[in-house]
Amino acid sequence: MAKHNCAICGAEVGLISEQKLADGNYICRKVCSKKCLKIFNQVEATLSSVTSHIEQVEFGTKVWNQIFVPLTKTKVKEEKLKRFGRNGELYVSPSTGLVAVTENRYKIFIFGKTTLACVYRLADLYGYDYDYETVKNSEGKEETKHYCVLMFQNTPGMYQVRLEIRGSKDFDSMAKYFDTQFGIQKTLGNIKNTFKHQMDAAKAIAGAFKAAKDGTMDETKAEETMDILDTAKYGDRTEWIAKADAALASVK
Ligand SMILES: [Zn+2]
Repeated sequence: MAKHNCAICGAEVGLISEQKLADGNYICRKVCSKKCLKIFNQVEATLSSVTSHIEQVEFGTKVWNQIFVPLTKTKVKEEKLKRFGRNGELYVSPSTGLVAVTENRYKIFIFGKTTLACVYRLADLYGYDYDYETVKNSEGKEETKHYCVLMFQNTPGMYQVRLEIRGSKDFDSMAKYFDTQFGIQKTLGNIKNTFKHQMDAAKAIAGAFKAAKDGTMDETKAEETMDILDTAKYGDRTEWIAKADAALASVK
């Protein structure tokens, strides 16, 4: 039987103790594979994405313990964490601008649990979609599983999070919550603000076209245009970035 070595810790692995990655590398199931969250897809991962993810979990777990755990006990309304996901695995902290995806690990014979986490800046959340799949359960009956898929920018490691939720209604309330945080207003009651953003965007595009025609289009101008377009679509995230960076800077 072919023996391989774990590409991270060097341990010798075999058929049962190895996890093959998409790039042909192997990692050990006993230690290194367990450092990844279960929702991280190891089969599709490369060695560099696995090591980035492991670093992400190590740092995220620190942030979880230092910032999120104290906030779970807060009495201050503005600091309260918002939870989503089938078992509440996703925590949003509006006061720090951070998002944590958590996984509890229970040890047999030892009371208590440890929590691993990946922490993201809310400002980097650039996509949230609903997804579902039909699977056969243990009794052979078809069952629909529901997911939310979150996409984060500026994120080495796991930048796409596919988390199980109870149903599409849960997704709707989550999407509404994020839209509200970012000031992306889709409801008719708030159309004025959306309209203003769209007008700003339209003016910026017109300006860019004119500049291109005059030959005065430069990178700064192009970047400004993209920024205004992003604001219309994704909301203004300046304050969310500042909040999150201040919180992360305090992590030891
Ligand atoms: Zn290993």
